[in-house]
Order: sequence, then structure tokens, then C-alpha cells
Amino acid sequence: MTETILVPTAAKKEEARKTPKKHLFLRLMRYVVKYWYVFVVSISMIVASGYLRTIPSQMTRLVLNALTPPVNLSNVSNILTTAVIAILGASMISSIMNFVQRYIQTYIAQKVVYDLRNNLFNALIQKSFSFYDRNRVGDIVSRLTSDADRVQMMSSMWVNEIASLVSQFAIWIVILVSINPSMTMLCMVCIPPILVLMSRYSKLSAPIFEGQRRIMSAINTFLQQNIIGTRIVRIFRQEDTEKGRFMRINDEFFSLQLRMVKIRAKYPGLNTMIMGLTTALIYWLGGRLIIQTHGTPMEFKWGDLTIFVQGMMSLMAPLRFVGMIVNNYNEAMAASARIFEVLDAEPDVKDKPDAVPLPPIKGEVVFENVSFGYDPNKPVLKNISLTVKQGETVAILGPTGSGKSTLLYLIPRFYDVTSGRITIDGYDVRDVQLKSLREQIGIALQDIFLFSATIKENIKYGRPDATDDMVIEAAKMAQIHDFISSLPEGYNTVIGERGITLSGGQKQRLTIARALLKDPRILIFDDTTSFVDTETEHRIQQAMEALLTGRTAFIVTQRVSTIKSASKIIVLQTGEIVESGTHEELLDQNGIYATIYKTQFMPREEILARRVEGGAK
Ligand code: ADP
Ligand code: MG
Repeated sequence: MTETILVPTAAKKEEARKTPKKHLFLRLMRYVVKYWYVFVVSISMIVASGYLRTIPSQMTRLVLNALTPPVNLSNVSNILTTAVIAILGASMISSIMNFVQRYIQTYIAQKVVYDLRNNLFNALIQKSFSFYDRNRVGDIVSRLTSDADRVQMMSSMWVNEIASLVSQFAIWIVILVSINPSMTMLCMVCIPPILVLMSRYSKLSAPIFEGQRRIMSAINTFLQQNIIGTRIVRIFRQEDTEKGRFMRINDEFFSLQLRMVKIRAKYPGLNTMIMGLTTALIYWLGGRLIIQTHGTPMEFKWGDLTIFVQGMMSLMAPLRFVGMIVNNYNEAMAASARIFEVLDAEPDVKDKPDAVPLPPIKGEVVFENVSFGYDPNKPVLKNISLTVKQGETVAILGPTGSGKSTLLYLIPRFYDVTSGRITIDGYDVRDVQLKSLREQIGIALQDIFLFSATIKENIKYGRPDATDDMVIEAAKMAQIHDFISSLPEGYNTVIGERGITLSGGQKQRLTIARALLKDPRILIFDDTTSFVDTETEHRIQQAMEALLTGRTAFIVTQRVSTIKSASKIIVLQTGEIVESGTHEELLDQNGIYATIYKTQFMPREEILARRVEGGAK
């Protein structure tokens, strides 16, 4: 895995070729154009402060020119006073403008990235489950964070650097041409070599930047997986392998950084050399001009020469950033390509254009010859037909990987069936609006996920408008109220990373409370906590009864009592229903269920029963 990340695959290159940068740029600019009025202010400030920054050089020129013989001393002293006041004033005003302009600029950049992140998050939250099957968490997270940051950097860079570069250039050209046009033309020959140098620099460093990004994302993903999977790593004693894998990624990052440093170190040196040459050239040309024009009305004075030297330096300094701007542009385009890729990924599961809202349902669910595969060529479920009437409970049994969870996922349309159809009260689930469908289904999945928030917030998750009384009522029915009340902060106790850790049984009862509060007609329950202590087992049992009454329920569970009292039991094997019926019917058939029951469930039931008796005495 780590090896492929660093080398752009053929497919990725192909993809990059298909999305032209210009198109991306325009699309990105749509986020920026919204704030055009702020831009106008910002750019005028850049231009104004750019002009103000030339004042000291202009004043130096005036003073030096006034000092050229024949000197008029009272005139010189007047010019000196003016110069001092002008320089002080200009630097004060331009520093204030600079501050305001930077503030405005950051404001826009943050606004752009704020909009972008919001859009991205909205898109992520609507993506199909299959999107998350295909993409790695670290990769998605890095699109929201570092890619968005890169775009933000660019949107501030662009206005700042380009506007100041262009205005600086224009202002200086105007000033220099007004002093001596032909001298200006001669000096311009120094510009092309700098530009060539800079574009070479950006060509060399661009792939390294891209590599750095890939590796950062790889490091992110790697860390996330290792932190999430830390228990597994320990259990299988894979610490050393993981260390090795991480070191390889880290090494790659290190050597890329070194390459970057080498390139960086070489170029400023060349730059300084070009600057030196330019200065020498101006002194040589300017010196000759002073001698040639001496005493003529078109006299080129010392002050003119100094302003040429300063002007050329100020002209060339920003050129050094051209390379950086080009690089930034490329990086930002690559980043926005990754962002737009997420924005554009069409959900596989989405509302049809003519989807109708599902009216309040009674809860009859029918599977009509349903087949499904995550990969359509590898069916996971085959020809499932099943009718569940309003209020019935179906218990689903089968070995790991037989498709139990998958079958549950199809009802709220986490995935769409490959063939056949699923109806609720006669409505094909694909014909109704997703929101109205999922609103009426209570779902508790295998990996119980609780947010790092208070217990109350977690229970209210599916129904934010619920009152505290309703929450308590649900918690009572779920047999978790006593436990919550025993906590010092009660319902306001924070769960998860920043708060308390709950046991499997407690988490499960919280999930049940959450489902009860939502009061759905259809319930989907993928149960993991199969082995808990007797007391908890008993409490979960009671909670489940509260949950199941009056609802159509699909339950994957190991809980004997729930299975026995189910209206229907189905046994899945490699994606097919191999047996179905009530507990008694299936015992009579003496097939797979009967065997499972006798070998696994019955002994456990007896043990449990004995324990309860023993405890009662
Ligand atoms: P069960 O819940 O009975 O253990 P699942 O429904 O989770 O079985 O899985 C059925 C089959 O589908 C397994 O072979 C599993 O590897 C595969 N599968 C499950 N989830 C995915 C997924 N998101 N993408 C691809 N294959 C999956
Ligand atoms: Mg499962």
C-alpha cells in the first residue's frame, strides 16, 4: 500500500490530464468572485502602498540632483525638508494600508476556504456508503484539511503577490521611463534571465511538492489506521512491522525534503549573481550617460542614476516570487482538483427525479427475489425473497460473511439492489425520497458508534426536538436510566475520548434508547454484544422487548430469547436463505437451525437459567 501512494499511477495521470487546469481555476474563482468588492478595496490599497513605497527613492533622487553643481543651498534645504516629511508620511500611510490590506486579504482567503470546506463537508455527508468503501479515511480527511489550506494559501497569494508584482512593475516602469526612456529599455535586458531561472526552479520543485503532499497524506492515513487499529497491532505483535512501514514512509519524506533544500540552496545564489550583474550594468551605462550629457539641457544626474539602481532592484525582487507563485498555483490547482473530485463524485444511491416522499408507514417489508453484490460480479446475496408483515420480528442467523449485515443495509438503501426489489408498504424503496425513507427506519449497526458528546445528546441524535422527559422515558424503557442517574453528571456526562468509557452492554442500551426515542415503524438491529453477564443479558432482554413491540424488526443476534420469540427466523448461508420459519417449525424440520439451537443456544440458555435461579436464592 505504502509503495503505490508515492508513485502516481497511470490511472491518476490519465485523470489529471482529463481535468484541465483552466477549468479548475475558473471554478475556484467562482468562490472568490463572490467577494469581488473586497478585492477592489484590497487591490487599490496594494497599488497605493506600492506607489508610496517608491517615495523614499524618488526623494533621494531629488536631493541628490539638487546637490549636483551648481548648488543652490537654500533650494537644497527646502528640498531636504520636503523629502523628510514626504518619506515619513509615506511610510506611515503605507504601513497602515499594508496592515488593512493584509487583514482584508486573509479575510477573503478564510472566507473562500470556509465556503469550500462547508461544501465539501455537505458533499461528504451525502456520499453513498460505497464512496466510503472506496476511499481511505486519511485521504478524505486530508482533502478537507491540507488541500483546503493549500487553496486558501493560493487565494491569498494570488491577489497579494500578483497585484503587488504587477503594480510595482508598472509604477516603476512609469517612473523610470519618465526619467530616461532609452536607459530604461537597456536595463530591461536583465529581466528575461531571471524569469528563465525562476521557471526552471519551479519546474524542478513542482514534482517534489506533489510528492510531499502524497507522503503527508500517506502518513495521515497510516497514523489513523494505526491509532484505530492499535489493539490489533498489539494483539498480533506487529509493532516492529508497523515501525518498519512507518520508517519507510518517513524516510521517503526526509529524502524529498533534502532534494528540495538542495534546489532551494542553488537558486538564491544565482539570483544574487544576477542582481550584482544588473547593478554593475546600470552603473556602467548610467556613468557613461552622466559623462555624455554633462552640461547639456538633458543632463542625466547622480540622483537619476541612484533611482535607476533602486528601481531595478525593486523591480527584480518581486520577480523572485514568480517561481513561487507558479508553484503555488500548480499546487493549489492539484489540491482543488482533489477537492472537486470529492464534490463531484455522484452518489450511487440518490433520489430519483420523480421520487415521492414515503408517507407515514405501517411497516410491511417485502424482498422480491433480491440479489446484491458490492461488486456486481460477485453476488453477496442471491435471490432473497421474504415477506415481513407489520409488527413482525425477523431474526437472521448465519455464519460470518453469509450476508446478514448486507441484507440489513439494503432496507434503508445504504446500497441499491443489483436485481429484484424491496418494497415498504408497497413502495419500492428506490422510488421514494431517501430522507423520508431513512427517517422512518431505526438503525442500530454492528459497530455501535457514539459521538464524543453527552449521553443526552447521543440519545437525542435522531430526534433533536425531543424533550428531556422523552429522553428519560426512552432511557427507562431501554433499562439504562438507573445507570445514567448513578453518574455524577447524569445525562450530561460526556462519553468517549473526553469522557467516560461505556461497556458493550451499556452502549447497546444507549443505542436502544436512541432508537426508541425516534419511534420508528421499522427497526434494524445488528447485534454484537452476544456474551454479557447475566444481569446485563436480562436487562438488554427487557429493553429489546420494549423496542420490538409494535414494530417491524430485522434483527441479527445471538440472543436466544429474541430468536425464539421472533415471528420468523431465517438462516443465511453464502447469501442464500436456506431455512425459514418459526422456532417450532424449524425445530421440527430438524435442519441447520435445529442443530445450532441444540448445540449452541440451548446449553447457553440452560446455563443462564441456572445462574438466574442461583442468583435468586
Ligand atoms: P455478515 O454480516 O453475515 O457477517 P456481511 O454482510 O458483513 O456478512 O458480508 C457479506 C460478504 O460481503 C462478505 O463476504 C464480506 O466480505 C462482503 N462485504 C461486506 N461489506 C463489504 C463492503 N463494504 N465492500 C465489499 N464487500 C463487503
Ligand atoms: Mg455482520
